[in-house]
Amino acid sequence: MKWKQQSPINLQPTVSATTPADYLELAWSKAIDGFLHQGPHGIEVLFGTDSDVFLRLEGKPFHLRNFHFHHPSEHCLNADAFHGELHLVHQNLSDLSYAVVGVFLSIDNSQSETDQMKELIQSFQRSHKSVSGPAKPIPLQPQSWLPPSYERLLRYEGSLTTEPFTESVTWLVLPDPKPISETLFAAIFGCHPQEARGLQSLDRRYILDLEVNIKLSK
Ligand SMILES: [Zn+2]
Repeated sequence: MKWKQQSPINLQPTVSATTPADYLELAWSKAIDGFLHQGPHGIEVLFGTDSDVFLRLEGKPFHLRNFHFHHPSEHCLNADAFHGELHLVHQNLSDLSYAVVGVFLSIDNSQSETDQMKELIQSFQRSHKSVSGPAKPIPLQPQSWLPPSYERLLRYEGSLTTEPFTESVTWLVLPDPKPISETLFAAIFGCHPQEARGLQSLDRRYILDLEVNIKLSK
């Protein structure tokens, strides 16, 4: 098959625009239980389809399905990479299309971890040691992974960055990075190498640089 719109890419915004008030809603404040899964491309946290943590993009709902990291960042911003990148993969349950929120991660030792982040670290470390027994659910609150500022959003149409590279993904990348401590960074990436796919060509696509007033709902 000939691919037409692959990800990741170098994010060099091409079109600036403002957005209406209800453009993007993040219902990310609840903590939901996810389960660690060691996939072919690294460790991920998977969620069921009944999750009430979701986003609404221009009125269309997408449910949180998967939470995982890459090191270094997969996307670049004006040709620069970051230490890491978090992907919050959401899926519309009717047409199965995706909306993925990308959050860049930068190391900042003035940051302390929340209790949930500490629990995530322990889960990652336990899974590395292959402690047997039933998988313990990990409560995750996506909102705690938002960067300090999120008034800008880079949007483009692309693909999953791992197989099967499906091209029905709307990418929403926050250009301002989330600072995390070296301890958290080491826990995420030290135990489990997380692959980052190389940059793909933009071809005829646009990258929208959006001024956005993200609605955070309960
Ligand atoms: Zn990813």
